[in-house]
Amino acid sequence: MSELTELYKEIAVCQRCILAQARTRAVPGEGPEDAALMFIGEAPGFHEDRQGRPFVGAAGRFLEELLASIDLQREQVYICNVIKCRPPGNRDPSPAEIEACRPYLDRQIELVNPRVVVTLGRFSMARYFPQASISRIHGQPKRIGSRIYYPMFHPAAALHQPKYRAAIEKDMLKIPQLLAEAQQIVDETPPLQAEQLSLF
Ligand code: URA
Repeated sequence: MSELTELYKEIAVCQRCILAQARTRAVPGEGPEDAALMFIGEAPGFHEDRQGRPFVGAAGRFLEELLASIDLQREQVYICNVIKCRPPGNRDPSPAEIEACRPYLDRQIELVNPRVVVTLGRFSMARYFPQASISRIHGQPKRIGSRIYYPMFHPAAALHQPKYRAAIEKDMLKIPQLLAEAQQIVDETPPLQAEQLSLF
């Protein structure tokens, strides 16, 4: 069994916060274990809670449309959320719930090791762009270490609001370029080695 599958099993029976009491199923996330591109949403909603899968409702269909605009299918990317259980009534996740779930998301990122992480919405953004305003920084990638983090609006917010919808559609189109840039970072010769090579 892969380490990621073991992590899914752990999440399925998690009791670290109050959301465990009301959930139908935890929603760990899904996608190729070596995906180059990872999307991090906010929290499972009604349908996700029922099915145990991320982004299977209206927001998920929109995300799939957005992926199709860059010739990707959802099976090719890794999709998960900041928190793995549905907050009752789809309320915002609390700081304590986000904190309780943090080790799961950290481990997912470590194991999948994506080159580009797309944050969907402000809760996901806040982990990598603290204090930032999503209206200001959406569509602006940031390199942290050898990975690129890229904040976008949440598809659920963008679905019915023309202003955000235009922005999310436009931001999505930059992703292929980011993947190419991130691959270059991986391929980069470390400076020290470059110097050593030039000695010969
Ligand atoms: N919204 C999210 O943030 N995540 C889901 O899985 C579904 C809707």
